[in-house]
Amino acid sequence: MERSESQPETRIGNRLETGVLRVQTVGVVGAGTMGSGIAHVFARAGFSVLLSDVDQSLLERSHTSIRLNLAREVKKGKVTAEEADGAASRIDLVVDLDRLRPAQLVVEAASERFEVKRQIFQRLDALLAPEAILATNTSSISITRLAGQTGRPDRVIGMHFFNPVPVMALVEVIRGLQTSQPTFDAVEALARQLGKTPVEVNDAPGFVSNRVLMPLINEAAYTVMEGVASAEAVDQVFQLGMAHPMGPLALADFIGLDVCVDILRVLQEGHGDPKYRPCPLLVRMVDAGWLGRKSGRGFYPYPASQ
Ligand code: NAD
Repeated sequence: MERSESQPETRIGNRLETGVLRVQTVGVVGAGTMGSGIAHVFARAGFSVLLSDVDQSLLERSHTSIRLNLAREVKKGKVTAEEADGAASRIDLVVDLDRLRPAQLVVEAASERFEVKRQIFQRLDALLAPEAILATNTSSISITRLAGQTGRPDRVIGMHFFNPVPVMALVEVIRGLQTSQPTFDAVEALARQLGKTPVEVNDAPGFVSNRVLMPLINEAAYTVMEGVASAEAVDQVFQLGMAHPMGPLALADFIGLDVCVDILRVLQEGHGDPKYRPCPLLVRMVDAGWLGRKSGRGFYPYPASQ
């Protein structure tokens, strides 16, 4: 898909009087479940994407999965084969974070650990042009705290996509305490360019989505741990009784049980409330390497072909 004159100019940062920066190159840090999806949607919308992770094999696995997902979209008639090829070719795989230097926007989608994100933010802050925006796909970590690690807190923002990114319409756009209005406007406009619907949220642990969803998943895990019901039965209650398209435990497998535990810990620490303590069953499953779909086993088994 050509990025044409229909793409409005995006004003970035609070430097409007000194020049307008057009977002053409987007960096994505972390090529796991979410980073792969984020790279996919930016490339599909015509942006050049620099996708980065800690090693080449992870990047190649990510690129393979992006190609497969693009091929599915071709089959469904959502994009043409040429558009899919164009999107895949617009993604460059880079191990060295320094290669993200030309990006006008970076979306960080690395593991849900403050220390990991802190290091990435500090390196990117030193590397990128002063007007570039640093966005994070964090599910729960404070945007304000991450922004405080940089010299550009007005240009740090939450851009929280949902899984699977190419399918889900929502982007929570999260303002940190110091996020400027031009930064917010630019990211909101970019979300719309990707065909998503941005929803504005203020910075608080878990924002809206995970503050509400994670206690549901956690409580569902407790019911299984206590023998109240099987995972299948818990999920059926929500699918058939509350019209959820997917039960909370199938959803937890989809998100990744490790990601769920990490988010619950951030909620527990951030709110200082033990009600968010991760269910011991979830913790045990993560310790066993049962991370959900991505590891082949979670509350349900996932044969390699799925
Ligand atoms: P994931 O475990 O699938 O992928 C994380 C990737 O980050 C891995 O490939 C890892 O190698 C990479 N990484 C770790 N440290 C890095 C570093 N220093 N530099 C570059 N790459 C590094 O996790 P995910 O599910 O894709 O989650 C990523 C982020 O998105 C997290 O902050 C998570 O909370 C958030 N998120 C996840 C979901 C979901 O449903 N899984 C939804 C919304 C947001």
